[in-house]
Amino acid sequence: MERFKKGQFEDLQSCLNGPEWLIEENTFQPEKANFYETIFTVGNGYQGTRGAWEEGFKGSLPGTYIAGLFDQQDSTVVDLVSAPDWLSLKIFVDGESLNMNSCRVLRYRRVLDIKQGLLYRLTVFEDSKGRRTRYESIRFASFSDQHLCCIHGLITPENHSGRLSIESGIDGERYNLDRLPIYVDETEFPKESKWEKWAKSKHLQEVSRRADSDSVFLEMKTLDRGHHVAYASGLKILGAEAKRSCRSEYQKISEEMSFEAHQGTTYGLSKFVAIATSRKVPADKLQAFCHRKLKAARDLGLEASRLANAEVWNKKWEDCDCIVQGDAKSNLALRFNIYQLLIAANENDPKVSIGAKSLSGEGYKGHVFWDTEIFILPFFIYTQPETAKSLLLYRYHCLEAALNNAKTNGFEGAQFPWESADTGEETTPKWTHDRKTRIWTGEEELHITADISYAIITYLNATNDWQFFLDYGAEILFQTARFWVSRLEFKPVQNYFELKGVIGPDEFHEHIDNNAFTNWVVKWNLHKAVELYHQLKRNDAPGHASLVKHLDLTEEEVGQWKATADRIYLPFDAEKKIIEQFEGYFGKKEVPIIQWDENKMPLYPKGYNHDNADETTLVKQPDVVMLLYILPDVFEDEIKRINFEFYERRTMHKSSLSPGIHSIMGIEVGDTKKAVEYFLRAALVDLNDNQGNTEDGIHIASAGATWMCTVFGFGGFRVKNQQLTFKPWLPESWQELRFQLKWQGDVLSVCIRPTEAEFLLKSDEKKTLQISLFDKPVSLPSGKAKTIPFKR
Ligand code: BGC
Repeated sequence: MERFKKGQFEDLQSCLNGPEWLIEENTFQPEKANFYETIFTVGNGYQGTRGAWEEGFKGSLPGTYIAGLFDQQDSTVVDLVSAPDWLSLKIFVDGESLNMNSCRVLRYRRVLDIKQGLLYRLTVFEDSKGRRTRYESIRFASFSDQHLCCIHGLITPENHSGRLSIESGIDGERYNLDRLPIYVDETEFPKESKWEKWAKSKHLQEVSRRADSDSVFLEMKTLDRGHHVAYASGLKILGAEAKRSCRSEYQKISEEMSFEAHQGTTYGLSKFVAIATSRKVPADKLQAFCHRKLKAARDLGLEASRLANAEVWNKKWEDCDCIVQGDAKSNLALRFNIYQLLIAANENDPKVSIGAKSLSGEGYKGHVFWDTEIFILPFFIYTQPETAKSLLLYRYHCLEAALNNAKTNGFEGAQFPWESADTGEETTPKWTHDRKTRIWTGEEELHITADISYAIITYLNATNDWQFFLDYGAEILFQTARFWVSRLEFKPVQNYFELKGVIGPDEFHEHIDNNAFTNWVVKWNLHKAVELYHQLKRNDAPGHASLVKHLDLTEEEVGQWKATADRIYLPFDAEKKIIEQFEGYFGKKEVPIIQWDENKMPLYPKGYNHDNADETTLVKQPDVVMLLYILPDVFEDEIKRINFEFYERRTMHKSSLSPGIHSIMGIEVGDTKKAVEYFLRAALVDLNDNQGNTEDGIHIASAGATWMCTVFGFGGFRVKNQQLTFKPWLPESWQELRFQLKWQGDVLSVCIRPTEAEFLLKSDEKKTLQISLFDKPVSLPSGKAKTIPFKR
């Protein structure tokens, strides 16, 4: 009999960090089950597992998603596969199952410890015979071995003795909900019956299952792409001699441990699961691989596995924590967003990126948007550049598809897809769920191609990683330049180039010409291509020569990029100093926003909705304001202020990407009151469910935007002319804001207080970094903290 080490795990709560790291749910609210499933996602970039109760619950939407595991089969567009469920763990008291549908819940608590990526749970069940059983558990997906997931549980029969059975398994019978965007009232699809209402897609078929003497194994295969997915799971009971049996059904396999339990005694259980796919391990080696991982974890034991995971987390937090003194609520919300970012990215797999709902839900089918390059990458670039590099490599791996995409559409160079999955082909659905509305973003939301170039340059500036640029980045940059030149049209009478038939970040208006945001970023993309072409030629002649040969580039072509960029039309009303969002925007109907909901989110003016907003000047999310943010050194302060005021009043914030950018720009133009409101809206988008759809998955771009608000907004950090610049401002209650930035191999610690900023450059070499604070130059010798007073 394996001895249950008394004391070691008696109080699972003692594993938890302090309250500044804890997201808590203290009452059982069945109607919020799906919401908390998203919030309590645990993961490690390789996989994410929603916070479903392990014994199951009616209406529950559990889900484990493995990065890069896509499949199409009978789904309208390719899905991030809902992979087998590793949580499955049921407790029976003399044959009666303990679950929250049939039992009374006498005590309930769940806590997500974001410092170490661990979900704690306590439930006291009272079953139909009045027997009270206390169940406590912790679960995590390990960062120290990304293939490993663990549950540790404690069971105490509080007022009874009798037979306890624990059934633990792997459930491969999984479906994806065929969720396409809907622009109609959700009441048409009542939430409680979501599972029944939505069409389902099946992506997995069984390959093999087996029960061994101390573990079970299940291998499935995706129907269309043919990826193998394998799980080995092992259950152990601590503190009792248990009788083991196995149950094997099609697509499911489980082991059951039964023992005589005594009132008041606590019994322990451990469940280790090893997960792997043929994306990394050859299919015929998967079984051995999973069993090896399982054995290694068991040999290490639960506590050591937990500590190994916590150690990796500690290192990650050392690099990216932001500390706010004076506002604990904001600090926790901010850290929650950072937690979600950390579990979304896999630095070890350059062929995957981050979907719009990370690995926490099926919204947007796991597809990758500009969210990654513009909203998520800044966090990784400045705190974990290796991860940023891996995310950019994903786009490089998709370059071939982008070249084909351009070709199919009749253009040259690389046109990246608006929505991307595993192959890099365009995966935007063509229709909404009700099949009534055509979705045009796949054809028209072109700015994604420039956004990717933008991210490459941002990464290059921050890291000086010229090797990456030479090997991968330059090719993307030059091929995107080629695309733009072939996509732009010349208007001889006006003597300028224009982009017709596009959609800008504000997606209310489709088929528009000369969207200011798109035209500006295209111009920027072309100019950067020219600049970097020459810089590479100067710095690395052989590298440059081989790239030129590989891409069949000529000086004439590069000259053409510049000539084209110089003459791109940029709509602007010089008198009013307002950038026209697109040609004809000023002629649209003005319908002022006059009502807001309880979260201060605008309500559509009477008679207007998503379908007819295009007749008006209402915008879904920042477009011109986004432009002011993305190109910080192009526009004067006055232009920024006037345009912010003009467009903010017309913005519906129908995308969670919107508030964060308004917060940053609010600070920049001096509208700090709104900036704070927008920050809270971004930071709490999921914790407060203020978009109403957190159950579909975390708004991961907003998580990135929350970090951006903190560092670019309150910290006032921008890179201008390749120099770090700061114009901080703190909300009244914030006594101090601390964060770190990685810059060209060094680390800059920043501490902002209401009227002073403290900087410390940490470097392996003795050097001095030139930065600026409110446009005044500051020299920072490495190793010496410097405090500089400021007045905003
Ligand atoms: C937004 C896009 C965003 C997408 C995925 C849409 O609602 O308008 O900007 O990329 O959601 O988050």
